[in-house]
Amino acid sequence: MELGQPTAVPGPATRTPARSAPAQVSGSAAGVSLASLSDEEFRTGLRDWLAANLTGEFAGLRGAGGPGREQEAFDERLAWDRRLSAAGWATLSWPAEHGGRGATISQQMIFHEEYARADAPARVSHLGEQLLGPTLIAFGTPEQRRRFLPAIASVTELWCQGFSEPGAGSDLASIATAGRLAGGHWEVTGQKVWTSLAHVADWCFVLARTEPGSRRSSGLSMLLVPMRQPGVTVRPIRQLTGTSEFNEVFFDGARTDADLVLGEPGEGWKVARYLLGVERGAATFGQQIQFRREFDDIVARARRGRSDPALREKIARAWVGLEVLRACAVDTLAAADRPGAGTGAEASVMKVLWARWHKALGELAMEVAGARALVARAEPYELDAWQRLYLFSRADTIYGGSDEIQLGIIAGRALGLPPEPSPSPAPAQAPAQGRA
Ligand SMILES: Cc1cc2nc3c(=O)[nH]c(=O)nc-3n(C[C@H](O)[C@H](O)[C@H](O)COP(=O)(O)OP(=O)(O)OC[C@H]3O[C@@H](n4cnc5c(N)ncnc54)[C@H](O)[C@@H]3O)c2cc1C
Repeated sequence: MELGQPTAVPGPATRTPARSAPAQVSGSAAGVSLASLSDEEFRTGLRDWLAANLTGEFAGLRGAGGPGREQEAFDERLAWDRRLSAAGWATLSWPAEHGGRGATISQQMIFHEEYARADAPARVSHLGEQLLGPTLIAFGTPEQRRRFLPAIASVTELWCQGFSEPGAGSDLASIATAGRLAGGHWEVTGQKVWTSLAHVADWCFVLARTEPGSRRSSGLSMLLVPMRQPGVTVRPIRQLTGTSEFNEVFFDGARTDADLVLGEPGEGWKVARYLLGVERGAATFGQQIQFRREFDDIVARARRGRSDPALREKIARAWVGLEVLRACAVDTLAAADRPGAGTGAEASVMKVLWARWHKALGELAMEVAGARALVARAEPYELDAWQRLYLFSRADTIYGGSDEIQLGIIAGRALGLPPEPSPSPAPAQAPAQGRA
């Protein structure tokens, strides 16, 4: 979720200037074989690097960004992401032959834990690094990989995800945006919505219907479309939090080269399913450290307040929920290492657990804050951390696949229940829509 733009005003989004490659940073993990490091050496090296680098121009970035606050210090966070990349701490999960670091699951987990513990800023490049990168590695042509992977890794190009449309959210197979091959390029026409970070993105991976008259999941293609062109209009959407992290995106004859289709033309559904299935995996551990920090903050305030048996019980329940989340995350990651393990519903189980827990935490924060929670800090709409938590966490059970969709996946994959009746004669099982 993510960032730095005009806050409320609809209209074409402000664009950041063209990006140049980051400088190399000394004292880094770049060039070091991660396979040669023990977990403890990896942890210590990273911890030291974060302590040494979250200083000077980056000192003020601790805790910046994240859900509901993506507008914070965007340019500085972009510079930080580039430093991280130049120092060899980005693209940890990508294989080395594709420019990644080939880190083990355990090293990735340590990275996210230490990163969150250091209160390092929310990343701005995660849609490219975590969603598109692995999909390019799986489906891209050698030319596409050469063209895009280095720019994602060095944070010189940012990406957004153009899947959802006004008539296609959970039911992604209803995509109507059209892609037409004409005169050596694709021409894209249609509307996307809820497109996170489109206002700062250089490129968009767009799911489009490229076979006229095709239905549902057939005839779709994944097109890689440049955002900085006359045929693309980005209109920020103002959220409950008062900020605008996502957008409406209008494609009006927008162009992209004929060879910038990811996977075979007409097989975009397969590519989209893969992309949406790229698990949060090790990132869950960083998320949980942030959750714990929010929880601890609420507990600290509650300790200073009046004794309330009902509130005591709710706080204790929240603590139990946090412990369950951690145990499940460890178990899911351990299972991921076992060949052939799992039902394919593990990510859905984690999503249901954390989204419900975090949403309830927002409500708990409001209860602990009491009447003060009802008043903004300053005019016109300055919220404190708990108010933002409460408001933004309403979205937790929607993005990345809504609760109902996740429960449908669990019912089918983990429990073998018969599928839901579908209005369509040839139903395609909708994957859970994802965002980083
Ligand atoms: C903060 C945020 C960021 C986002 N970022 C992006 C992005 O970058 N790119 C992108 O493409 N999309 C993005 N999305 C969109 C997100 O993927 C969709 O909101 C989500 O898939 C739900 O689709 P929808 O909003 O159209 O709701 P709908 O699909 O219309 O669903 C409405 C309600 O009906 C329920 N429902 C729908 N189908 C079923 C069913 N079969 N059974 C039971 N209940 C059902 C849903 O659970 C939901 O409660 C973002 C959303 C949010 C909130």
